[in-house]
Amino acid sequence: MHYTPAPPDPKAPPVRINLLSDTQTKPTPAMREAMAKAEVGDEQVGDDPTTNELNARVADLLGKEAAVFMPSGTMCNVAATLAYCRPGDEILAHATAHIIAREGGAHAALGGFQITPLPGDDGQFAPETFRAALHPRTRYQPLQVLVSVEQTANIGGGTIWKKAALDEIVRIAKAHGLATHMDGARLLNATVASGISPRDMTAGWDSAWIDFSKGLGAPIGGAIAGSRAFIDDVWRWKQRLGGSMRQSGVAAAACIHALAHHVERLADDHANARALARGLSQINGVEVQAPETNLVFFKPDGAGVAGDRMVAELRKRGVMLAMMDGRIRACTHLDVTAAMIDEAIGHVRDIVRAA
Ligand SMILES: *Cc1c(COP(=O)(O)O)cnc(C)c1O
Repeated sequence: MHYTPAPPDPKAPPVRINLLSDTQTKPTPAMREAMAKAEVGDEQVGDDPTTNELNARVADLLGKEAAVFMPSGTMCNVAATLAYCRPGDEILAHATAHIIAREGGAHAALGGFQITPLPGDDGQFAPETFRAALHPRTRYQPLQVLVSVEQTANIGGGTIWKKAALDEIVRIAKAHGLATHMDGARLLNATVASGISPRDMTAGWDSAWIDFSKGLGAPIGGAIAGSRAFIDDVWRWKQRLGGSMRQSGVAAAACIHALAHHVERLADDHANARALARGLSQINGVEVQAPETNLVFFKPDGAGVAGDRMVAELRKRGVMLAMMDGRIRACTHLDVTAAMIDEAIGHVRDIVRAA
């Protein structure tokens, strides 16, 4: 779980406007039809044709030699660090990174790795900050093996790492013998918003993955791409973690459908996020971070309503969202329309007026 749900209220009306997370999307009828028709086999022995097709598509999309379907984005991150690092090794990532804050300590529990949190605004660290955190290879210090970035940076506000910064981080990492990993839970939000292709955005990165169960609207799964040798290692960890599947083509078909039909439309989610931010910023005292993609972070405290009270009041009106690290996060996705955005803004305005 990567958000704090509003306290359950038995009298709360049904949720009509779900801004909690892009993980909340339900598969569309067309997606369910694609799933029903999927050709399937035994994924664990490499025999599921639909999953194999998805893997080939993701490898091509991200410009890597190979890719493997995983049950979740979290398992993409966990299997990747397990493939790269040995116990005691050091990973560098932003202080708000999902691998630090929201994976149950998996990288320490399962791998014995230490993750050094790097500071920086909006979920991103400057290449200079990364360079300054590198130390010589002595027997006293942990081996620095891996640097990881999130594209987009979730807690940072759904911000997009600039291509120039990504390139510079790769250059520094290579010069110091570190591997590079991109947590691409919302990578395609970044590529659609920036116009940079996924292949170019991940160029130079040893591994990158995309999540199908976020804005792409599939019920399950992520896929991680890299060199063939790396993906072989990830496959071993997937097996060890119990992530190998059987007739996974039913799920993979939803992901293939999402790649065909739900990528370009992420631009609609971004337009809805901008409209939401614009509306909220017109309410006196509400502080809004300008969105770059589909996440809108805001603080209503200046308008006399504490964040958790705003969340509770909105829930009474059928609008669901949550606090995340001290601010309210609203997330636009496939199941959120422009009319819902207007209605949600109206509710926030009413709650502020009544306060
Ligand atoms: C959601 C998320 C993940 C984990 O993906 P799941 O599919 O929910 O396991 C990893 N990193 C970031 C940045 C995320 O937002």
